[in-house]
Amino acid sequence: MTDRRAELAVNLAKVEERIAAACAAAGRKREEVTLIVVTKTYPASDVRILSELGVRHVAENRDQDAAPKAAACSDLPLMWHFVGQLQTNKVRSVVGYADVVQSVDRSRLVTALSKEAVRAGREVGCLIQVALDAAETADPAAPVPGGAAGGERGGVAPGRIEELADLVAAAPALRLDGLMTVAPLAGEYAGRQREAFGRLMDLSTDLRRAHPAANMVSAGMSADLEQAVAAGATHVRVGTAVLGVRPRLG
Ligand SMILES: *Cc1c(COP(=O)(O)O)cnc(C)c1O
Repeated sequence: MTDRRAELAVNLAKVEERIAAACAAAGRKREEVTLIVVTKTYPASDVRILSELGVRHVAENRDQDAAPKAAACSDLPLMWHFVGQLQTNKVRSVVGYADVVQSVDRSRLVTALSKEAVRAGREVGCLIQVALDAAETADPAAPVPGGAAGGERGGVAPGRIEELADLVAAAPALRLDGLMTVAPLAGEYAGRQREAFGRLMDLSTDLRRAHPAANMVSAGMSADLEQAVAAGATHVRVGTAVLGVRPRLG
């Protein structure tokens, strides 16, 4: 075993233990939670090791890094999730490898994803990314603070989920899978991950009234996966706790 393989195996086992403990504490079955390992900034060789260690879901947040990595790993039985801010000019590339895009947060992106998925002859799963720190607004033209129009983190205000979900559900070659969020750093939920993820679960319940199959709830990262599992998340996205502290912000 190489050093890196041993290191990843140990880290993965620790994360697996945390997820299992969180499921047990919440009275949930371990199978109800899927681990997605966020491999951003780490090389394809790590992805290959993770695959050998039994990981089946990986996530990336920048197409420039993800596209060559996915190509180098195309022989592996992996599901690729795209979790970053997505510009429409990258959509064609992303649709080439992503099974699920978790960061759908505006109608233009839905249109572009649908067009490219049709062109590629694939079906792409979509999660609506929710910004729990965004001001509630019914005005679709209003910029979301920290959202697609204003910053790094992305996401739509809760009041705009329905409109975007209906758009995805009606779009050719797209599949509405559910909701995703990142615990907010600002606003009423700052530092209150459990409450933030609880709010996401309520929004998921609302969404499933109109779209019963859209039952994915992607929440929780290295620092707060327990709170996400406690709230009811179906998918946790873990980077640092498996791969180590990233050399740069990514
Ligand atoms: C980087 C990233 C993660 C993983 O974060 P860690 O703190 O490294 O576990 C999860 N979700 C998104 C959207 C990310 O960009």
